[in-house]
Amino acid sequence: MADSTAESSGGPKMSLTMKIMIAMGLGIVVGVILNTINNDFLNTQLVAGFFGMIGKMFVNALKMLVVPLVFFSLLGGVTGIGDIRVLGRVGSKSFVLYLATTALAITVALVLATIIGPGKGFDMTGIDASGINAAEAPSVWNVFAAIVPTNPIQAFASGEMLQVIFYTVVLGIAVLMLGGRSKPFIEACDYMNDVMMKIVDLVMRAAPYGVFALIAKTFAEQGIGLFVPVMAYVVTLVAALMIHLFITLPGMLKLLSGLNPVTFLKKMRPAQIFAFSTASSNATIPVTYQCATERVGVDKDVASFCIPFGATINMDGTAIMQGVATVFLANVYGIDLGLVGYITVIGMAVLASIGTAGVPGVGLVMLTMVLGQVGLPIEGIAIILGVDRLMDMIRTAVNITGDAIVTSIVAKGEGKIDMEIFNDPNAGTTGEDEVELPHHAVA
Ligand code: ASP
Repeated sequence: MADSTAESSGGPKMSLTMKIMIAMGLGIVVGVILNTINNDFLNTQLVAGFFGMIGKMFVNALKMLVVPLVFFSLLGGVTGIGDIRVLGRVGSKSFVLYLATTALAITVALVLATIIGPGKGFDMTGIDASGINAAEAPSVWNVFAAIVPTNPIQAFASGEMLQVIFYTVVLGIAVLMLGGRSKPFIEACDYMNDVMMKIVDLVMRAAPYGVFALIAKTFAEQGIGLFVPVMAYVVTLVAALMIHLFITLPGMLKLLSGLNPVTFLKKMRPAQIFAFSTASSNATIPVTYQCATERVGVDKDVASFCIPFGATINMDGTAIMQGVATVFLANVYGIDLGLVGYITVIGMAVLASIGTAGVPGVGLVMLTMVLGQVGLPIEGIAIILGVDRLMDMIRTAVNITGDAIVTSIVAKGEGKIDMEIFNDPNAGTTGEDEVELPHHAVA
């Protein structure tokens, strides 16, 4: 990825990942200080105004890349895989694995939350629950029917990723079926894919500033005091997310692909930082893709299919939040969920994660559906609303790690991982991303 440790003529440079991590740390410090000062002018002009603008520009720039990048890379992926049977195998394997990891994630969350029992004896006074409305629960049939777009242009324009993926795969298959005549088109798509990756590199250069602004704004607005009343919820949720991130997912990787999970997690760090800063799996697609291909060594064709697919249908961290939040709120209201309740939560969370795109805060909307289904008061969401942004950041990092793990398992099964890249600690961290402008452009 755009993680330049290259030594340029100006002497050794700090890697981009390092810069982003420093920016994140600085963002937390500055945010907490601003939150403590709590000055009206600073809050409106600096935090909401300036930091808000920089953060928004950065996230917008990442989102700007998503649809064209997914289109060209997916098209390249489908035509590159070349064989429709292999495509079907990669598609169905990743679909099953994505659903399995989500179901596993929420089961672990429910078990842990039941053992810890957060929310017992919670004091509801002072919680304002006005303005919270339930979203309607989707039916299984509608979730699948909505995959087929009526108008592909509209799907692209509104960023309906599942529809974009469907249309692009169909297009890719048609291109393949036309055989030799498609060669110039495939070459043009490959070229456009390279162009998109170059734009990704350019956007990444702004990453330290964007990340700083996003983190400083979040901490300045939210502070740390918000956590005290819902500490039990936060601790249980973070514990469940960490178990999934450091035990369940790596365990699956080792078991199903034999790849070294420690190496893998190290290589995914840049994508995790982006997911954490933007709280959007969709906006993180370009970085997840780069990490998977250039650092982990996953074949581009497989990654360009599985990564956007996962960002849309796979949300392990979000499912974990649903599980912990449901148990927490059931305890707050003193309601017994019962076995059927638990099974409903698992089914709903898996279903909701297929149909919803990876954008900030969508997990809360999904939670309203889950609560409605098990008969818990939707207003309960008000209790956890304050801490949700930060929880969203952590769960999004888990979401994209799940995407990359399934992608790597599928790729390994197909013999599509370059082990030399995987075993090279410096892979993807060389100066390939340096901008090479023609001389006249520099002058
Ligand atoms: N922000 C999450 C994502 O993009 C979804 C959520 O949990 O709200 O993956």
